[in-house]
Amino acid sequence: MPEHRPETPAKYRYLESFLWHDFEAGRCDWKVWLHRKLRGCSPAVTAATFQRAMQLHAALRSLQAANSGMQIGNELIAGREMLNRLIVLYRIEPRLGEDGQISLATNKPADPVASLVLMVLDALQSGLWRRFKLCHESTCRASYFDASKAAVKTWCSMQTCGSRNKMKRYRARI
Ligand SMILES: [Zn+2]
Repeated sequence: MPEHRPETPAKYRYLESFLWHDFEAGRCDWKVWLHRKLRGCSPAVTAATFQRAMQLHAALRSLQAANSGMQIGNELIAGREMLNRLIVLYRIEPRLGEDGQISLATNKPADPVASLVLMVLDALQSGLWRRFKLCHESTCRASYFDASKAAVKTWCSMQTCGSRNKMKRYRARI
């Protein structure tokens, strides 16, 4: 299952990558990811943003679970609250640009977590956020962008998780 899919809109590739990584090794993984995405990122930025990045990651995964039709209840409420807290923290507000258009902006444009929050809000506004899902296979749960016409995909990959799941259901029947 690849990190990036050709159908994911280019402006969401940074977000797609963030969601795809599980950051199992914590701060160390965050550091590696930041350096790969933003060359020359200082250790101070890594340390200052780590906790918020993980809070955002957990919140977004609960929103993704909802996009995937999974029943998660309180986790979804907590995820939305966390996103609202980050919107306040980064002072994300509408700004009127020179082109006469309204766009969202933050008072911390150099903060990688603030950039990710802006990207999620953009995806929510454009209606594409519902396509960021989690794989239904319980041993996988990978994040993926569902580019299917009606956004009805269930697994990250039909070749791996989809076929594994079909096999399980087949075995359950016999
Ligand atoms: Zn999967």
